[in-house]
Amino acid sequence: MRPPYLLLDIDGVLIPFPNADGSTPATHARHDVVPAGRSADNPVTVWLNPDYGRLLMDVIRTGLVTPVWCTSWRQDATTLIGPLLGLPTLPYVDLPRPQITTSHPNGYLWKRDHVDAWLGDAPTVWIDDDFTGLDHAWAAERTVKGAPTLLVQPDPHHGLQPEHLTELMTWVSQLPAARTV
Ligand SMILES: [Mg+2]
Repeated sequence: MRPPYLLLDIDGVLIPFPNADGSTPATHARHDVVPAGRSADNPVTVWLNPDYGRLLMDVIRTGLVTPVWCTSWRQDATTLIGPLLGLPTLPYVDLPRPQITTSHPNGYLWKRDHVDAWLGDAPTVWIDDDFTGLDHAWAAERTVKGAPTLLVQPDPHHGLQPEHLTELMTWVSQLPAARTV
């Protein structure tokens, strides 16, 4: 079995939601970035934990997953966010831009139909803060059909934690291909 994809969200995962008072998490550093198509005098402020580049690289270097951005930052994930974490250029899922007012227009994550088509029958671990019960049912169904699927869902106010990556690596190491290496 080929290595599973590691689909990686940014908002609510690498950039936790702000606290009620708008303060930056103590562990994170503030950056101003200018997404593509946005005026340079109107940057977006983000906060990133500098340790997470290293943690993610520890996972990527194992070669046991194929990392891909899966975020509404789209290409900006590669050009803006990744470099701030010291990550190499990673591919990204070129998500559509639906006119929606909720992240669950059909009761499940808006990205999912596109991701489902993009994945085909490939195994994947997908880190996103915004799955619903229907997404978890989708993952279970894919797994039953022979496409092992793990959803990892950080609390968006805390974002990704080291134990999420431990969970991921434990899961990956138990896949059939990994066992034969
Ligand atoms: Mg998110």
